[in-house]
Amino acid sequence: MSTRRGKRIDWREAALLAENMRAKAYAPYSGYRVGAVLVARKDSESQTELFIGANVENASYGLCVCAERNAVASAVLAGMTVFLGLVVATEGPTPAAPCGMCRQVLAEFATDMPIGLVVGGEIVDKTSLAQLLPRMFNGAALAEAQAKIAKQAKRASARKARS
Ligand SMILES: [Zn+2]
Repeated sequence: MSTRRGKRIDWREAALLAENMRAKAYAPYSGYRVGAVLVARKDSESQTELFIGANVENASYGLCVCAERNAVASAVLAGMTVFLGLVVATEGPTPAAPCGMCRQVLAEFATDMPIGLVVGGEIVDKTSLAQLLPRMFNGAALAEAQAKIAKQAKRASARKARS
């Protein structure tokens, strides 16, 4: 689900929305409610949209899904895979950054983007995806590795043919 459209990122609006999303979280096990708002757009358009997410827990703990990944899924379903920014709202007083799994999922779509950490409806700390996930493994890294593997295999088969 998305909300308002615009060309500029309204961080204040995104922070308030993320804070409000915490109320929608399904967190009966941890009680730790998280809201997220992802700013995304289509590859072909400059208009951005805000995509919301909240954490959804499960009695089988390993199946819990974070707010950030739910927001990512929402944006992708709307065809918006260019990510411009993320806001994550958690319980205070110390703000929390996205977990490692969410960082990796975000890296599928962006090498960097600003990330605002929200407590009480306000951004109290700022970071970025590149800061949180340096030397990320993504599609480009995989393609590079696969090209190297293919080149080595070709060389090995040429060597075999010569001998
Ligand atoms: Zn996460």
